[in-house]
Amino acid sequence: NIMNFEIILATNNKHKLQEVREILSPHKVVVYGLGDLNIKLPEVEENGTTYAENALIKASAVQKFTTMPIISDDSGLEITALNNEPGLHSARYAASLGGHDNAIKEILKRLEDKKDRSARFVCDIVLLNVEDKPLTFEGIAKGKIAKEKMGEGGFGYDPVFISDETGECFALMQKTKNTVSHRAKALNNLLTYLKINGFVPL
Ligand code: IMP
Repeated sequence: NIMNFEIILATNNKHKLQEVREILSPHKVVVYGLGDLNIKLPEVEENGTTYAENALIKASAVQKFTTMPIISDDSGLEITALNNEPGLHSARYAASLGGHDNAIKEILKRLEDKKDRSARFVCDIVLLNVEDKPLTFEGIAKGKIAKEKMGEGGFGYDPVFISDETGECFALMQKTKNTVSHRAKALNNLLTYLKINGFVPL
């Protein structure tokens, strides 16, 4: 009779929290947001050179508030024809243009004369406070950049990302995004670790 496994997600992104909860809660993992625990995280500079480094920076910032297991998510959209940009800078790219709506318009413009519309979302999840070293779990979702925006669901670049696995746009995959996304794949790798080590039921 294994108890719930409780973790904190080190993010202020409500969409990420919702997705992570939806993916982990069927497996007896209870996910708290920073707000649930009254933790006010100072803006940390994500100056790492990899997703894993940035995820570790975010998770480490929460470590002084709690001894509970902490996970953090760092993710990005890599577009082949744009030299894998915006990649690690996906959030900053959107912010610098005034939001994801503008960033999407800009991307569609930059891809106008490009034949190759392939892209991938990458997600690294870092787990702290379980072993004496941080553990990293990665997930990749392959897809294509649509010719125009499709749908209003999801967040970020979802309205222009068409999953290779389903042929559908993430913004239109209300329930199924969380079965094929980069975040789902990384979290499933985390779940395998938690199962193998007896933290959650098999
Ligand atoms: P982070 O919060 O610093 O990891 O930045 C991640 C950024 O990558 C987000 O702000 C989005 O721009 C983009 N991104 C990551 N995951 C997704 C997703 O599932 N859908 C759409 N955009 C995403």
